Amino acid sequence: MNRHSRIFLSPPHMSGREELYIKEAFASNWVAPLGPNVTAFEKEVAAYAGVKGALAVSSGTAAIHLALRLLVIGQGDIVFCSSLTFIGSVNPILYLGAIPIFIDSEPESWNMSPKALEKAFKWAQQTGKMPKAAVIVDLYGQSADYDALLGICNGYGVPVVEDAAEAMGSTYKGKACGTLGKFGVYSFNGNKIITTSGGGMLLSDDAEALEKALFWATQARDPAPWYQHSEMGYNYRMSNVVAGIGRGQLTVLDDRVKARREVFKRYKEALRDIPGVGFMPEASYGQANRWLTVMTLESNQTSITPMQIIEALEAENIEARPVWKPMHLQPLFAECMYFTHEDNVSISDRLFSSGVCLPSGSSLSVDDQQRVIDCVKKCLTSR
Ligand SMILES: *Cc1c(COP(=O)(O)O)cnc(C)c1O
Repeated sequence: MNRHSRIFLSPPHMSGREELYIKEAFASNWVAPLGPNVTAFEKEVAAYAGVKGALAVSSGTAAIHLALRLLVIGQGDIVFCSSLTFIGSVNPILYLGAIPIFIDSEPESWNMSPKALEKAFKWAQQTGKMPKAAVIVDLYGQSADYDALLGICNGYGVPVVEDAAEAMGSTYKGKACGTLGKFGVYSFNGNKIITTSGGGMLLSDDAEALEKALFWATQARDPAPWYQHSEMGYNYRMSNVVAGIGRGQLTVLDDRVKARREVFKRYKEALRDIPGVGFMPEASYGQANRWLTVMTLESNQTSITPMQIIEALEAENIEARPVWKPMHLQPLFAECMYFTHEDNVSISDRLFSSGVCLPSGSSLSVDDQQRVIDCVKKCLTSR
């Protein structure tokens, strides 16, 4: 056993109010799926984000699946998607039998590069392989550059699903992340900025589309007195108990954003002067929630690698992780196409090989963070 307690990458951080909503659910025996907490949570999230409606579901991945089905994605269709992301952005494309084509990041925000996207569209136009949708990710809680990206997608008439699973509480030019595409998605998985233990939300201004998604998410049950089905559905709804956790968490979301940004600031101040150390930049067009603080190591300035940092931290009972392995490098997608930011330069490859995600929880104490900082410093200055 290590003499120190474990420091996790991004643990759940309850406010205490969650239990009030859960107690209510138990008192009224709403321990079933659906119920008043679900309806209220949807309304509260929609109001927070500034959209017409929201649908609470069992995961962020389920919400992306429903969004893509609403866009009539089917067998053999092409969907453009950020390469630097978590697999949850892409699996729904496969569920529908569609083909992902991956788009590189830009160095300014680490999100989808408008330059690479434009290249992909030019290729699609020339070959007659136009995508039917684009999934754009707000990586590590930072908004992508939607004016540029939507300008391109709208020009080609292609709708956008905003995967804001990591970006609840972040903004783009004053607008909430999750509201910038035709559909937006949040995740309440255990490691996200707020959590319901597991869950997700689909957001849109299109009330009719959300009605349809609700129908599919509840096994596509026809309005008949018996169990009748004309379409394929899913069991994707959020339970009333889980939604109670979400309602409690939502009341402290802004505090959580503030705390994670403070965590980032302390890392940056403590480590930025070490040669070769950098951090994920914050684009001037918005405010990131700094879900995770990501440090980079320039290989021409330091011989220490991200994996060495991760191992050194693990030896101190501290959890750290590499940056997402880009989708175009995954064995699952070996056959898929990929468009880079510059010819022969893949930004996402560079970020994958140079990045480390540091413990970033909103409950991380200054003392615990100092343990992380000391360990990283020691590792970087030891040779
Ligand atoms: C977490 C995450 C998802 C999936 O959300 P789940 O609720 O875990 O299904 C999708 N995309 C990104 C970028 C994520 O980080």
